[in-house]
Amino acid sequence: MKFKDTYFGGIFGAISSLLTGMGVTLREFFTRKVTEQYPENRKELHISERHRALLVMPHDENGNNKCIACGLCRQACPNGTISITTRTVTDEETGKSKKVLDTYMYDLGACMFCQLCVNSCPKGAIEFTNEFENAVFDRKKLIMKLNR
Ligand code: SF4
Ligand code: SF4
Repeated sequence: MKFKDTYFGGIFGAISSLLTGMGVTLREFFTRKVTEQYPENRKELHISERHRALLVMPHDENGNNKCIACGLCRQACPNGTISITTRTVTDEETGKSKKVLDTYMYDLGACMFCQLCVNSCPKGAIEFTNEFENAVFDRKKLIMKLNR
């Protein structure tokens, strides 16, 4: 009969096992904590720049965007997440007509963040930001107009 199979062997094994567990606990107690205390740590929270959370259309200081209403992003989107309406304006100087963007609608609730829209845009008019706190109670609020 082996010692570990005896009465005292069992007690010794239990104490040894307990001490091993306590040793692990003690070591972790003094190890630097890595758990994220979200949302308490919101100010120092680091979200990678590459994280795709929200599609936006940047505007310059005059309120202009780079979109030429070509519709390539809408065509590239596999989810029908983007809808665009356009209007035709006539250039006063040249007299030529051209299509301009009227509304650029984006449904965050239907987006799967594939970035095909951004990649297909010839003007770099849209991009993803890493602003991830977009939860709302009403799904309709996830449909956003991106142009001003
Ligand atoms: S990221 Fe993908 S799913 Fe979302 S709007 Fe762009 S193309 Fe559509
Ligand atoms: S965002 Fe880019 S791809 Fe989409 S309509 Fe505007 S210019 Fe075209």
